[in-house]
Amino acid sequence: MAILIIVDKEKAEAWAAQVKAIDASLDVRVWPKVGDPADIDFVLVWKYPSGELKKFPNLKCIASLGAGIDHILQDRNLPQGVPVTRVVEYSMPQSMSEYVTLAVLNYCRLFDTYLKDQEAAKWHEHTSLLARNTRVGIMGLGQLGGDAAVKLRMLGFPVSGWTRAPKQIKGITSYHGEDMLESFLSDLSILICLLPLTPATRNILNRDLFAKLPRGAYLINVARGDHLVEEDLLEALDSGQLSGACLDVFRTEPLPEDHPFWRHSKIIVTPHISSITFAEEVAPQFVENYRRLHAGQPLENTVNVKMGY
Ligand code: NAP
Repeated sequence: MAILIIVDKEKAEAWAAQVKAIDASLDVRVWPKVGDPADIDFVLVWKYPSGELKKFPNLKCIASLGAGIDHILQDRNLPQGVPVTRVVEYSMPQSMSEYVTLAVLNYCRLFDTYLKDQEAAKWHEHTSLLARNTRVGIMGLGQLGGDAAVKLRMLGFPVSGWTRAPKQIKGITSYHGEDMLESFLSDLSILICLLPLTPATRNILNRDLFAKLPRGAYLINVARGDHLVEEDLLEALDSGQLSGACLDVFRTEPLPEDHPFWRHSKIIVTPHISSITFAEEVAPQFVENYRRLHAGQPLENTVNVKMGY
């Protein structure tokens, strides 16, 4: 049996090399050089062509190369009943927390304003926000949101979190479910989205939600582009309901050159880099799951396909 890797051409060979470095005896193939489709029982995928997985009659595991699985669940021909796994590892929450902390501190301490002042050789003191007066709200307290919440709390920010089911994290004010969304939003200075993309969360960052935030709140979206209704963000920035946004993910990636976000004075754009996956850290998870599969043991890091995360 064999592992098949379906990912960007530039990255595929590197992933294959990482897996082979752990166990040289494994049969690892890189798409589209599949060989006999009946050999493939385990795939490692990131944004693969829809319908492709249907071609492998003996497929036993679909492993996402990232934390999200929305790119897999959008496949209308996804083989049914095959377990789906995702990446859970140290460097991902670490790098995501670094990014959101940077975005929060940049907003509070006005670093981008000072950079503009420097370009104009302007010596001017701006009023910054005090951490203790700046409540940060995080939608999603999973491996990424939970880590960011704890780290922002340690920096002195009051932190609220919103989840699907009740969740307790020491020092974090917790809300859950649709009924509590309005209360969660009502006193935030900064809103961070770290939700998975599911039917329940698609387009959740919209005009109605922005209206429930205090006027002048700041948005950080590091989850998925499809969480955000882009026209509603532009409208909220124009009206002053939101004071700015830091965005790492977009409906279309790469963000088209003529997209209004690129040149908007209140938006910071980064190219989907908030959380970094290191192949050498993640590859052992895949090899371990492959071993488990063949030993008849339960797979690790499986997701609930029905729930979408
Ligand atoms: P996770 O561990 O599965 O956590 C998801 C969190 O979202 C959980 O707390 C869950 O609530 C909550 N949630 C899910 N559906 C909800 C709903 N309908 N209402 C309220 N809360 C809901 O996910 P993760 O590993 O932290 O990753 C989160 C997302 O970040 C990924 O799915 C991906 O889209 C994105 N991401 C982005 C990057 C990047 O580079 N920009 C990198 C990695 C991941 P419960 O605790 O109640 O289940």
